[in-house]
Amino acid sequence: MDEELYNKYVKLGRGNWGRGYNLLKTMYLGYLQLIKDEEFTPVVELSINVFLEIFKARRNETPIIMYPFNFGPEIFHAMDITPLMQEMFSVGLAPSHLNEIYLDFTNKVGYGDNPTLCNAQRPLIGAYMQDSAPIPDLLFFLSTPCNPLSISYQVFQQLTGVPSFNIDIPYWAYNEVSEFYDEKTMRYIIDQLKSLISWLEKQTKQKLNPDKFQQTMLWLNEAREYALEFNELLKTVPCPADSVAGYTNTICMATRGGTYDAVKGTKFLRDTAAENVKNGIGGIPDEKIRIAWPYTHVFFDYGLFPWLEREFNAVTILDLIGFYQPLPQDISTNEKCFESLAKGTLDFPMIGTCRGPIEYYIDFVINYVKDYKVDCVIFPMQFACKHAYLMTRVTSEAVREETGVPTLIFGVDPYDSREVTSDAIRGKISEFLTQIVL
Ligand code: SF4
Repeated sequence: MDEELYNKYVKLGRGNWGRGYNLLKTMYLGYLQLIKDEEFTPVVELSINVFLEIFKARRNETPIIMYPFNFGPEIFHAMDITPLMQEMFSVGLAPSHLNEIYLDFTNKVGYGDNPTLCNAQRPLIGAYMQDSAPIPDLLFFLSTPCNPLSISYQVFQQLTGVPSFNIDIPYWAYNEVSEFYDEKTMRYIIDQLKSLISWLEKQTKQKLNPDKFQQTMLWLNEAREYALEFNELLKTVPCPADSVAGYTNTICMATRGGTYDAVKGTKFLRDTAAENVKNGIGGIPDEKIRIAWPYTHVFFDYGLFPWLEREFNAVTILDLIGFYQPLPQDISTNEKCFESLAKGTLDFPMIGTCRGPIEYYIDFVINYVKDYKVDCVIFPMQFACKHAYLMTRVTSEAVREETGVPTLIFGVDPYDSREVTSDAIRGKISEFLTQIVL
């Protein structure tokens, strides 16, 4: 990014962001500092806009809604409600370990502990109690993927007094060819999305504008098209993207889905991967190992994937959040638009694989291993994530039986560097790769 642009963005972030938003402002300035010497891509622009839109909303006194990482914010964008993805704050603090201060405070006041509730949400409890976390105008959450998330949002609601709305994610499949198909699934989710809109209209005293909704759906479809093509390109050997490109793809959709920013971000990722495929270039030099990582990143250790790339020429093609699966849909009528939103909600990363029978997850991992020519599967796992914790061992055995690909499971808290250290994680992976995979 050239200096003039950098200074422009620093200037745009100046001023009072409002009560509880100071740490977010610090994160914004820290992010600018971090990317100062990097190329100014559409993805960088999107990330900057995520912060600036929040500041703009505070300044203009327009509503901000906080929501979790596993929901596309299209409806919010269509209604000019600024989305604030909760993890942007509570997990965004993990690489600098600042979240640990709030985790310790949350422990002290007696709210849960690591084995029972997830540290993706828990820091926010302590941060709210210390007046350090952004208080939104509205809260939204889902019953899936986990009970730590849905329980913690009820605590956020109590602490902030902010009105909240939640939707129940159904268990069964909407696809008629699935053995788990239930004809009521689609109607159940569409009705809830319509109720969400009615609730938002009531809270904000503004109606959903049909033209704006149509534009949002067009941009959503276009971005999904790019995401789909990007996912297909990753099947190429060598993989044309590095270990975090997939995650970046999902972040585009989870923060700016339904906007032109997301169209530009996903197109950039697709174009870069396509160009690399055309030229036979890998996302990492001299690819030797292709890893599937069907869980979250270890968020406190951003150096882990680059270390794997450097030390083992290993590219992590899959992580569970970084595989954006919702497909482009027919949006020719209003009802079709709602079907598209419903399918996007049911197939969203971590929802699609974790919302129903264990077969959803097992089949997903096995198909991925086969389609993406994966050499090994690594499952970092925390006990708080009870549904994933339960599925891991069975899935690991199913992968080995059906594909012969070796697997590694190890315990870790992805949000707390003190549970299992970076060195211990590297030691375990190193042993697995050198003694079993290579
Ligand atoms: S890591 Fe697991 S427990 Fe934590 S928020 Fe994600 S799904 Fe929920």
